[in-house]
Amino acid sequence: MNATGAIAAAVVPAAGRGERLGPGAPKALRDLGGVPLLVHAVRALTRSRAVGLVVVAAPADGVAEVVALLDSHGLEGKDIRVVAGGDTRQESVRLGLAAIPAEVGIVLVHDAARPLVPVEVVDAVASAVRAGAEAVVPAVPLADTVKRVEPVRGGPEPVLDTPDRATLRAVQTPQGFRRDTLAEVHAKALAEESAGAGGDLPPVTDDAGLVERFGGRVVVVPGHEEAFKVTRPLDLVLAEAVLARRRAADAY
Ligand code: C5P
Repeated sequence: MNATGAIAAAVVPAAGRGERLGPGAPKALRDLGGVPLLVHAVRALTRSRAVGLVVVAAPADGVAEVVALLDSHGLEGKDIRVVAGGDTRQESVRLGLAAIPAEVGIVLVHDAARPLVPVEVVDAVASAVRAGAEAVVPAVPLADTVKRVEPVRGGPEPVLDTPDRATLRAVQTPQGFRRDTLAEVHAKALAEESAGAGGDLPPVTDDAGLVERFGGRVVVVPGHEEAFKVTRPLDLVLAEAVLARRRAADAY
């Protein structure tokens, strides 16, 4: 891989509605400490010297709004591009990936909904790809015991089994990929979808999952408890607390 190829680009899918967070603006535009979640997430990526370009996949009807938002939060000095996202996270990532120049060899994918990821996690993921991994995910051990169930709306749900917790990890973002690997699995998934195939397989909820589906090798590096995803109202309360703690620490 040449020198240009060693600099990573990041795709930020930010086109989700965020309905589990309650009614309001698209999730990426919700406020956290006076700054939209998306701006926090993009800043976290641009703080990494490994990242040379950030492509944001915005809600299709909100591209101009997102461009203005990023400009108004002092991010205009960085190489940040905004494209229209899609109806699913997977489509948003695919559209973002298509906007990355051909010479970029490493791509990170980072949820706008993970605003507080520490720069050390971004760096660790990028350097694991640089060191030769084709797909890298940051993850943390689970605090809770996990059970597999037969889903029944409203319950009670019969338990099928209890996986050994020591072998489980909760996966975060940014996930990092060789660009050719990520492009190939997204193209295959799209072809599968258009052919109506893959219907009885479980849905793929992250990009590394696509690599696994098509036989690629994914490795895990340590994630961080502050890289959690803001999904439900309580997550916003926690994010506010983490941010307040960081701001207090910076004041000294
Ligand atoms: O819904 P969930 O929390 O899993 O979304 C993860 C990320 O994917 C969020 O940053 C969300 O904005 C993004 N997304 C997207 N396009 C969609 C749905 C979700 O970019 N159609």
